[in-house]
Amino acid sequence: MSNKPTFFFCKSAAQLEEGCTLSVRMEATGMWKPADILSIKTEGGKRQYYVHFLHFDKRLDDWVVEEDLNLSSVRFPRNCSTAKRKLADEDLPVANETMTRSQQSQLPQKSVDEINAIKNVQWIELGKHRIKPWYFSPYPQEMCAQPCIYLCEWCLKYVMNATCLARHLVKCNLRHPPGEEIYRKDTISFFEIDGRRSRTYAQNLCLLSKLFLDEKTLYHDTDPFLFYIMTVFDSRGFHIVGYFSKEKISDENNLACVLTLPPYQRLGYGRLLIELSYVLSKCERKTGSPEKPLSDLGLLSYRSFWSQAILDVLINQKYHDSENKITISINDISEKTSINIDDVIFTLKELELIMYYKSRHIVCVKSDVVKNHLKNKSKPQLRIDASCLHWVPKEWNSSKKH
Ligand code: ZN
Repeated sequence: MSNKPTFFFCKSAAQLEEGCTLSVRMEATGMWKPADILSIKTEGGKRQYYVHFLHFDKRLDDWVVEEDLNLSSVRFPRNCSTAKRKLADEDLPVANETMTRSQQSQLPQKSVDEINAIKNVQWIELGKHRIKPWYFSPYPQEMCAQPCIYLCEWCLKYVMNATCLARHLVKCNLRHPPGEEIYRKDTISFFEIDGRRSRTYAQNLCLLSKLFLDEKTLYHDTDPFLFYIMTVFDSRGFHIVGYFSKEKISDENNLACVLTLPPYQRLGYGRLLIELSYVLSKCERKTGSPEKPLSDLGLLSYRSFWSQAILDVLINQKYHDSENKITISINDISEKTSINIDDVIFTLKELELIMYYKSRHIVCVKSDVVKNHLKNKSKPQLRIDASCLHWVPKEWNSSKKH
């Protein structure tokens, strides 16, 4: 028997089942890409297929209809019976969608991972933004059954419809995240939230952020964390833009989760969140690193931040040795930037600045790298102004109740 995958021609989409792989049209680009069917449902008499595009991030997973499927070349799952594979060439009767309870109970139970693979929230409304979620988040089921979940943009409480939200807004007095404002410059502020003191807010924030972060498990216990919420101010109040969380007690990590909400992405806010995490580490006289794994977007932001911070140090380095060569150790770079040593080495390698010369590793900054760096720096950029930060590190003792 050959192990080569066999592709079948299907006459009807009714023959498809979960686990099939076929070419599917991507809504965003209109291009056809191979995808796996993760789930099938019938709504208004029409079958819909939840697909995951191979080699693409899960945020592109989506419900599609028959017109988006190319039935000319379908691979059936391995566990699919041979009889059914053969039938793929013939006409299959359309499955009867109404099942008795006993029939339903005979269906294989889905694992938590399988259920979490499917986006469960269609839309959220947050302040003036209506946002399409990227990933699964464990909001209560009755909320997910609604076409849209309405969030109070101040306390992040979630309700089922606009009427409930209007009723809540009459009572909700918050106009900023419920913590201390530790930074303000122009319209940008940061608020520090203690996950124990503002537990409900922190839990609501975790639920909201899970919609846009795939890798992180949700922290039901928010007590050990601090949350730094970035806001932009207008006449109505301080509107949430993004946040990062940080463990109160951690030797290595200066950041657990970081998120810029989609309406505010690509505007330099992500960089600002990362920069503040290092400025706080500097106040603590520590070096730090983000908790792994980083999301694809998270890694991009970090790589760009690290390169910039490290090149700043290398280019401004004033100390020269007797041969007029700049001397700086990896340790010095790490101390000056608060970026931990592993991330410094990773970045120097990425930039191809580490060279092996006369049986020593040396850092060699090439002129094109410098030119590129200075060009990027000349573009307007949001930066943390340390003089606008009012924050002193607290001692979180693990033996005491925090
Ligand atoms: Zn509220």
